[in-house]
Amino acid sequence: MFDGFHALLPVTGCLAIELVSLRWRGVRVFPDWTLPVVALFGVLPDLCSPHLSLEDRYESWSHTLLFLVLLLPVCAGMTWWFPKGTRLRVAVVGWVAAALHLAADAVSGGVPWLLPWSEEPIGDYHIQPDDWLFYDSGFIVLALVGWWLRHCLEGQAFERSLKNEKAGPL
Ligand SMILES: [Zn+2]
Repeated sequence: MFDGFHALLPVTGCLAIELVSLRWRGVRVFPDWTLPVVALFGVLPDLCSPHLSLEDRYESWSHTLLFLVLLLPVCAGMTWWFPKGTRLRVAVVGWVAAALHLAADAVSGGVPWLLPWSEEPIGDYHIQPDDWLFYDSGFIVLALVGWWLRHCLEGQAFERSLKNEKAGPL
């Protein structure tokens, strides 16, 4: 899959979580800068071992289970500059973004999950390369709609909090 999809799939997922939370609880789930970090982790496997051909992907150390395991402390460590109380959820969505990258590549050609123990790629072309651009475009639209809806719901939540403040104890 292309990196637009890899970046925006987890971003769209985070926005969906935010929309549900804003709608029902009136608060956001993730701190500022979560979405760019999640997008970065979504493309991280390709940044760590850039490749163009499927054969190169089959030799990529960053498309393996071992990479996902090694990424756990990286995800935990990178959250130090996020506010306390939000770090665990940022670490989790960062790691999930990278895991989703591998899962998406597994259904669009396969990845060498078990390197260095086995060179056999696992997966297949369930999503054909001809369709990848369609997925990229779709998730660009979904992310933009999610971003816009979050902005609207945040405004509504802010107005509600002002009203509640006014109607509060005298
Ligand atoms: Zn990849």
